Order: sequence, then structure tokens, then C-alpha cells
Amino acid sequence: MRAGICAVDSALHLRPFAFVSSRAMCPTIARRVQGLKPSVTIAFMNRAKAMQRQGMDVLSFAAGEPDFDTPDLIKEAAIAALRAGQTKYMPTLGDPESRAVIAEKFTRENGIPNCTPDHIAIGAGGKHQLFVSLHCLLDDPRPGDPAQEVIIPVPAWVSYAPIAELAGGRVVEVQTSAETGFLASAEQIREAITPRSRVLILNSPSNPCGTMYSPDQLRAIAKVVADGVKTAPDLVVLSDEIYEKIAYGGIPHFSIGSVPEIAERVVTLNGLSKAYAMTGWRIGYTGTSGEFGRKFIQAMATLQGQISTNNTSFTYPSIPVALRRCGADVERMRGAFARRAELINRRLSQIPRLRNTTPTGAFYAFPDVSAYFGTTSPKGKAINSSLEMAEALLEEALVAFVPGEDFGGCGKKHLRISFACSEEQIERGLDRFGAFLATLK
Ligand code: PMP
Ligand code: GLU
Repeated sequence: MRAGICAVDSALHLRPFAFVSSRAMCPTIARRVQGLKPSVTIAFMNRAKAMQRQGMDVLSFAAGEPDFDTPDLIKEAAIAALRAGQTKYMPTLGDPESRAVIAEKFTRENGIPNCTPDHIAIGAGGKHQLFVSLHCLLDDPRPGDPAQEVIIPVPAWVSYAPIAELAGGRVVEVQTSAETGFLASAEQIREAITPRSRVLILNSPSNPCGTMYSPDQLRAIAKVVADGVKTAPDLVVLSDEIYEKIAYGGIPHFSIGSVPEIAERVVTLNGLSKAYAMTGWRIGYTGTSGEFGRKFIQAMATLQGQISTNNTSFTYPSIPVALRRCGADVERMRGAFARRAELINRRLSQIPRLRNTTPTGAFYAFPDVSAYFGTTSPKGKAINSSLEMAEALLEEALVAFVPGEDFGGCGKKHLRISFACSEEQIERGLDRFGAFLATLK
């Protein structure tokens, strides 16, 4: 372990201090972080950026980040607050107005019952809200006891499992496949529930699959959860709805937290990163319901109060502006994502031996590339996995896709392509991808 951490230091070109005489002196890093899997989406995004900085013409489809600029109205609200001197500490969970607007949004748009400003937390991005939520739900197992279980239909976003494990949970994967649109059935969820089940994570529209659960499918899962409580009394659904507004396949978005029988045990995650092109602002929020929801948000306040306190103060006025006044911007961007989805779908369907599932939401294509495993790249790299293909594609064809292994399950046969970029880039990237696959021997 020691040597590993020092090797990372040297890879980052950190110079050891002159008085450190030997490698044995190198202090260790906490085991909890040594064992933490780095985010592969962030890793490939950073690699592509580093290559671009070196002047290489890399086309990056790595980050799940809209290429649009944040709408002006949203920027103006933050600029005005900054000018007005809103630069001090604020209430930990956010300013009262933003919490009220979010509660109203969850009530009106999502149908979540008994959701008041006291049922809302605002934090530094959806990932931060996921981190805080899971740490408020999961306990480290007592010595000799089994860990609490976190049920995750896979493939799923790369951050769920590492954060769940960091919080002390044990991940129970529910396997899905392209044949069922990467959706878990209610029956599969029923089979996964045990007395140790603590959290079920759902994500619709899905990163990385680009598919969505229908309202009926989610109602069926809600019924299973309601029944499952007899077996697992502490079971909570964590519904990640960050791509809610990016739906274009005809399936309406549905919030499982609106089902009255289980509303109180659903924690709904959302944020401004995706729908409002605000990834760099770091604004995420959580909504809950009823008595447990209120208690849960108080727990989040305690934890956030020891982590990050409030978000950057002058960004709060942008939240009501985004949620109340930027519907036309959201619709413009949604329309662009819909056109890009169609384009990338068409382009992928023209490539021999690829299997693609039509995306209906979010901005990801997730083709099965496994028919090309067992080949060799023009520069002699063996391609036996998604990671090896993503590496060779980046190094030899200057196209950054994310390898599928870390999304879990059948993800290892897939590459994730974020099409939150221009149609021109999609055309060029898919030209390169098709040409690269054609050269594999
Ligand atoms: N959930 C999913 C499914 C995501 O893809 C992302 C993207 N990072 C997030 C949550 C969190 O986004 P952010 O931290 O930028 O709000
Ligand atoms: N969610 C985005 C993605 O999957 C951004 C990077 C991250 O946070 O994982 O690419």
C-alpha cells in the first residue's frame, strides 16, 4: 500500500522534500480512501482534456456534461447577488426561498405528497447529495454482523457503488440487459430484498443506459417495496432523477416518491447540473416526504454542517430563477438532445456488429461492442475488453468514450458515449469510431 501511494506521488511529479530520506518514511493514506475506486468518467474526461491541452485533436464524448452555456437569466441572478454582497455564510441546507421553490416543484411537478421546505436539502451537486444521503442511511456493520445491503440495478452510474461501500453498505447488483432496455423488473427487485436491505437505488432516465422506466413499471416496483417492508423494515428508495427533464422517447418521467404507500421512504435526488447546463455550479438537491423525510433532512443538516456548510452563497438566487423562469431554455436543450440522440442512433446502427439500444432520455448511447473483442488494433494492442477498446480508441483514433466495466453487470461489453456535444462533433467522432473498428484485425 505504502509503495502504491508513493508511486502515485511520483506519477504526479511531486518532488519529495529534501529531508525525507527514504521511501519507508512515506506516510500512508487512510485505508477507506486507498480502497476507493476513482471515477472512470472523471478519469477519461481528464485524460481527454490533458491530451487536448497538449494540442491533440481529441474528440471527447467522456463527460456527462451539456455543451450549452448556462442560461443568462441564471447567471444574472448570481451576479446580482454577488454585487449585492451575498457573500457570507448562509443556512446549511440552503436559503429559505430556494428550499420553498424546490418543495413546491416536488409537490406540483413530481406529485410528492407532504413535501414542505423542511423536507428539502440543497448541497454541492447531485453527487454530494448522494454522498450525504447514503451516509445518513447506512451504518458500518457491528463486528460479526452482516453489512446493510444497497440494491442497485446495473449497469448504473459509476459513483453509486463506491459511495455506498464507503458508507458501510454492501452492494447487491440486480442484473439487467439490453433485451429489457436495461430495466430491472419488479420481480427482480422482489427477489433481491432481504432482511438486510437498506437502500434501493433507482435512476430514470439512466446514466449510462439512456433508458427510462415507465410509470407502470415504477408503480410495480413501488408495490414490491411496500410489500418488502415486511422483510426489510428499514428499506428506503433513493430515486436519482437528475435527468428528469431530458426525456424525448415518449415515456413520461415519473417520480416513485409520488406513490402514497411508499412516499415517506423515498429520497428523491435532483440538481441543476444537467437540465440547466450548470455542471460547474455544483447545485444538487434532495426531497423527502412526511415524518421520516423531515427527520432525514435534519440528519442531512447535521452531516452537511460538518462537511461543506452551505453552498456558495451567491448562487442561491439562481435556483428559483432556474426552476421557475427557464422552462424555454430547458426545452431548447431537450430538443437538441433529442436530435442528437436520433443522429447518434442512426450512425451507430450503420456500424457493423454493434448492438445499440435506442436512448429515450439523458444523453448517453451505450452500444454493445463485444463483437469486436478478441481483435488487435492497428498499433498492435489486444482488444479483449471495453477498457482496452476505450484505451486504444483514445490513443489511436483520438476519440474519448468511457469504458463500461465500472457501470457494473453487462456494462463490461459496452462503451458509454455522452452525446452532450454538437452534431458536427458527433458526425466526426462516429466517422473516426467506425473507421477504427474497421481496422481491427
Ligand atoms: N446522478 C447521475 C445519474 C449522474 O449522471 C450525475 C452526473 N454527475 C449525478 C447524479 C451528479 O451530478 P452533479 O454532481 O453534477 O449534480
Ligand atoms: N455524471 C457525469 C458522468 O457520468 C459527470 C461525471 C461524474 O460525475 O461521474 O459523466
